[in-house]
Amino acid sequence: MSDIVFNHATVRERADMLSFLRLSAERGLETVSIWGDEIAKVGEANALAALRDHGMKVAGYNRIGPFGPGYLDRAEEELERAARFAPDHVFLFTGGLAEGERGLTAARRRVEDQVSRLLEMARRIGVKLAIEPLHPMLAGDRSVITSLTAANDLCDILGHGIGVVVDVYHLWWDERLGAEILRAGRAGRLLGFHVNDWLLPTRHLLTDRGMMGDGIIELASIDDMMRRAGFRGAVEVEIFSTDWWARDPAEVMDVAIARCRHIFGAKNS
Ligand code: ZN
Repeated sequence: MSDIVFNHATVRERADMLSFLRLSAERGLETVSIWGDEIAKVGEANALAALRDHGMKVAGYNRIGPFGPGYLDRAEEELERAARFAPDHVFLFTGGLAEGERGLTAARRRVEDQVSRLLEMARRIGVKLAIEPLHPMLAGDRSVITSLTAANDLCDILGHGIGVVVDVYHLWWDERLGAEILRAGRAGRLLGFHVNDWLLPTRHLLTDRGMMGDGIIELASIDDMMRRAGFRGAVEVEIFSTDWWARDPAEVMDVAIARCRHIFGAKNS
């Protein structure tokens, strides 16, 4: 079992999905996280064949959402495509406030209702859903679920078939983080652990994430929280960064693997 997973988004500007899979395989990685739009670019049959040829499994499938008008009708098709890739979990991307919508409380109630309907679909199709709380600065336009507390509360209400992913970028500031990771672990719903870093200064909220070790997040201590909560999965490298996207994908992956080994003691074979 590999301890490191790359999210394709980390190198997507210069490596299509087929190149990304090859680069991962060359590094002894056995699992990847993938994107529906990247599958569409190379063709689903080619993507599935490449995964099979490399003997690779899928951790996270990105993604279901944003929940705009009429989205739930299209979601079933996306969930079915996700299921063909047999991922461990499928990400929910709720989106922020709807056009003309005012009031976060109402938006959250709407999203909770939508998630519960998506969960019924996902259970029928046979995939597990993952809520990834995003940073509160993204509440307006990206996700109205902005803390692990809220994600845990929602999972408590919804029952089986849904869990949470902890992304250090979104949650590092939260004084309740350790307690909520433990809560998620006890409930058996810790599905993933995304790593990157928070740079000072941060020039852009979506495209200026740091390489692990280049920023201010206490990565080893969050890793401890995850392990104490019983998480035995891989660390998933997910860096949205115009700086890293401009570099050679192979170099980016090698730097990230070295950092993971150093910070998390992770292995890649
Ligand atoms: Zn993430």
